[in-house]
Amino acid sequence: MSDTDGVPALGAEALRGLQVGEERDGLSLRLRSWERRDPNLVCGITTAEAGDFGVFGAPADDLYDSFAGLAGDLRFSEVSVPLLVHGHDVVEIIAAEPDDRPLSLDLRGRLDGQVTGARGCLLVATAADCVPVYLWRPEAGAVGLLHAGWRGIAAGILSNGLRSMPGAPSAALQLHLGPAICGQCYEVDGPVLDALGLEGDRARVDLRGLLVLQALEAGVSRESISTSAHCTSCGTESLHSHRGSGGSAGRMAAFIGLRRPA
Ligand SMILES: [Zn+2]
Repeated sequence: MSDTDGVPALGAEALRGLQVGEERDGLSLRLRSWERRDPNLVCGITTAEAGDFGVFGAPADDLYDSFAGLAGDLRFSEVSVPLLVHGHDVVEIIAAEPDDRPLSLDLRGRLDGQVTGARGCLLVATAADCVPVYLWRPEAGAVGLLHAGWRGIAAGILSNGLRSMPGAPSAALQLHLGPAICGQCYEVDGPVLDALGLEGDRARVDLRGLLVLQALEAGVSRESISTSAHCTSCGTESLHSHRGSGGSAGRMAAFIGLRRPA
């Protein structure tokens, strides 16, 4: 028992009533509500059964096999994987011209967000508790993927990501918050609360709820926001959780991309 038992997590209220996404498909969860709207859009996250997609310390050949395998199965010719650092940097990925070369893997620099208007390039973010934030601007044919833990949220990765999305700022934008640690499983102390602009010495915090509040503040309409129902730690799906495992977990690969029309 702790002092925060039974106390709603800060931010959790903001999730109430949001559309809930993702359906199981083999070794991944897929955001069918988006994919149904565009046959070339691919959007989801691997489950723990698909293996460990952690990038740090893994041999280059293994990384190629993992990520090129994932992208190839999803019929992409390029995959872009950043080395996540819990920062707020977002880059726009400019894909190469279509050609016949084998699938290419780009291990990007140390950054936590990618956006692209290029087709054929699968964006990846690895995670195990932090929130994968999916962005889609249908009219512009643009997608984005952010990795948002408390540090990234405090540093403003969401507003950077929204600003970086290709297409007119006035055009409709969809935002989905993927599987992540839920508010009931995520208790933090004073310095973290302080960084997030919250008060207290200790409290439960719902990272996805905080992201909803930031998105609304940035002008995203509530109807355009959906959330995963899955908690990486206490949920029933087979997912990697850094906290839930005491730090020994692998990483899931969140992914989004627009295929080239067949
Ligand atoms: Zn939980």
